[in-house]
Amino acid sequence: MTLPLPFDTSYARLPEQMFAFVAPTPVSKPAFIQFNDALAERLGLDKETLQSPDGLVLLSGNQVDGTHPPLAQAYAGHQFGNWNPQLGDGRAVLLGEVVAPDGQRFDMQLKGSGRTPFSRSGDGRAWLGPVLREYIVSEAMHALGIPTTRALAAVTTGDPVYRDAILPGAILTRVASSHIRVGTFQYFAARQDREALQALTDHVTARHYPSAGTVADLLRMIVERQAKLIAKWIGVGFVHGVMNTDNMTVSGETIDFGPCAFLDEYNVAKVFSSIDRQGRYAYGNQPRIAVWNLAQLATALIPLEDNQDAAVEEFTLIINGFGGIYDAERRKIFAAKLGFSAADDATERLSNELLTLMADSEADFTQTFAALSTDASVAPLDRHASYEDWKARWRALRPDETVMQGTNPQLIPRNHLLEQIIQSGVAGDFEPFRNMLAAVTAPFSQLTDATRPFAAIPLREERVTQTFCGT
Ligand code: AMP
Ligand code: MG
Repeated sequence: MTLPLPFDTSYARLPEQMFAFVAPTPVSKPAFIQFNDALAERLGLDKETLQSPDGLVLLSGNQVDGTHPPLAQAYAGHQFGNWNPQLGDGRAVLLGEVVAPDGQRFDMQLKGSGRTPFSRSGDGRAWLGPVLREYIVSEAMHALGIPTTRALAAVTTGDPVYRDAILPGAILTRVASSHIRVGTFQYFAARQDREALQALTDHVTARHYPSAGTVADLLRMIVERQAKLIAKWIGVGFVHGVMNTDNMTVSGETIDFGPCAFLDEYNVAKVFSSIDRQGRYAYGNQPRIAVWNLAQLATALIPLEDNQDAAVEEFTLIINGFGGIYDAERRKIFAAKLGFSAADDATERLSNELLTLMADSEADFTQTFAALSTDASVAPLDRHASYEDWKARWRALRPDETVMQGTNPQLIPRNHLLEQIIQSGVAGDFEPFRNMLAAVTAPFSQLTDATRPFAAIPLREERVTQTFCGT
């Protein structure tokens, strides 16, 4: 045994049909790409040892703590609206849970760590691209103040991964307040496994919503967190891309950064994912899809209730409450983006007008808002006939610069730049990855010579129009 980690894995104490104990498959030549010092500190882990060869052995899955066997979690899910009764951790294992110094519990998961009983036809591996992408985007989301899973470490494995091409393998250590999904509930509801469904509900209540006294309370709190989360996505132009019910947490954290992307030009119908042909998960459709997903969660919770007819009625009201919570949050966020610390009809009208002007002129979402606080000009919005008039009416309400600066990022992880740093990484150069990571994890800071290149909007020919699940 190498490194003793203070694991306390409560999930392993749940009914055994909820997971499978499985060790990671060893890799040939692990090497660190990146280690997240600040996150290790936040978790109360020994960051020096974790970055040493002893830590590498653990974070590459080459050795596990014998007293805390890793496990793969079972879950199901609706993928693009189609029911899939059997998904689960097919390329990930929960190494264990750690309780941080402040008492908060976190999952430490290896992603890309080899086959599990849930792998179906997959190889259980990840190639470098999605690992670098998830590292950067999840850490950027965190820096933007958006609840998300995080990245503790990324390592290369030294082994090839076979996709359309032969690519370098990698493993991400993902940290989350839990990895429990809407699809985890669906898995047991579909099997009419009341024991597991009850145990899961009790576990989620104790872990994430200790003040929930009933199943209805629990649902209401999950709906509230998700409504606020989606409003925050909308506020930074984030398009998740694959909002299947297995990719929606009950903790309210963003999870699964497959084909995700940030808007360049503002367009509510924007879709990046190559497999989202109907635009189901388009930027502006995300609140509606969240409601659809939460309705699946409500359905999965019904069997726990004695009076099921009454529960259907009550849960329906709770789901219908999403819109009001989402809208209040969205109005507040967009008011702040315009420099107002509270939303009212005037701020709402101004933000809707601005968004319409942006859509008309294909203005960049991030740069338009960033420019408001510095009074920089924003092409092509400046050329729009109504922009000057809008600005005059906006200024008349005396927007507060500091409110804007704390809300409007100077930069977000741009898709075209992500693709460039992945290409460099495949060629063995991780310097661009590190530079981009440093830039996007300080999104509200003044740009410097080092960070400015990462704020650049793509030239028309550089615009990424399609992203891939990239497993
Ligand atoms: P995702 O689309 O990334 O949310 O993954 C959907 C399902 O496919 C999950 O059950 C994953 O564990 C599984 N999966 C994705 N990629 C692989 C892989 N390379 N090997 C095994 N399972 C995978
Ligand atoms: Mg997933």
